[in-house]
Amino acid sequence: MFEQIYHKYLLHKNEENRKNRYEGKESWYHASGASFCSRKLYFESVEKAEPTNLPNKRSSRIMGLGTAIHKEIQDSLIYYNNIYNNNNINKATNKDNIAQCNIHNFHTEGEIVLEDLNVRGYYDILLEDATDSKDNPLIRLYDIKTISNFAYRKKFTTKYIPEPSMSHYMQLATYGLAVQRKFGTLDSMDLIYYNKDDSRMKKANVPLEYLSKAHRYWKVINEEHTKGLPMFNLGTSPYKDWMCNYCQFLDHCKPPQFK
Ligand code: SF4
Repeated sequence: MFEQIYHKYLLHKNEENRKNRYEGKESWYHASGASFCSRKLYFESVEKAEPTNLPNKRSSRIMGLGTAIHKEIQDSLIYYNNIYNNNNINKATNKDNIAQCNIHNFHTEGEIVLEDLNVRGYYDILLEDATDSKDNPLIRLYDIKTISNFAYRKKFTTKYIPEPSMSHYMQLATYGLAVQRKFGTLDSMDLIYYNKDDSRMKKANVPLEYLSKAHRYWKVINEEHTKGLPMFNLGTSPYKDWMCNYCQFLDHCKPPQFK
């Protein structure tokens, strides 16, 4: 019973989110789709096909947990803004030593639009960091990623050689392109990883060179889609073969065995 009720609630929240963010704007590419699969982007934003493989109950709960953690962290930053920026607290009362007043100003869930690339999305966190200069704060961009213990260990223990998480890098860099255009600068991009099993958190820097990679990626997607549905091509359609198992257009697409 509880599982059913919770699942219905998650479906309701997802639909609410879709209506608020994407209804009437279906032909835009989603920034969160950066680097995944050109065919998937085509189905979603050019063909506007109905998804044939929606997430199952367990996958919905995993995503719901991620959304809840995002909200908690973002709420903490709004709390920070209210406490340390809106109130004139001086250094002596700042016992937690988080930062001095007016040094950090956080923005959360900001919409980005790249008209020339036909891409929309929402970044997680933008920080105006006035540590060195109040007049010219550094612009720092962050994306929160909730991951399993296995993925976390692969990323942060010396036992494994970490691979760049291409989709995480390219998604953040897509937001970065829009932020850079808006502010005239972008000084850093970081992923904040949250381990779902033991709540460890760690930051990973994303090199700024990914800005031009993301720009190139979306240009190629736009050009490719003017020619119609892309052919199967492991590396771009899809990026990795296992991704098809999680694709909401799996039955519509009918991919071959890639091995
Ligand atoms: S099933 Fe695979 S190839 Fe087809 S759209 Fe989805 S990810 Fe791309």
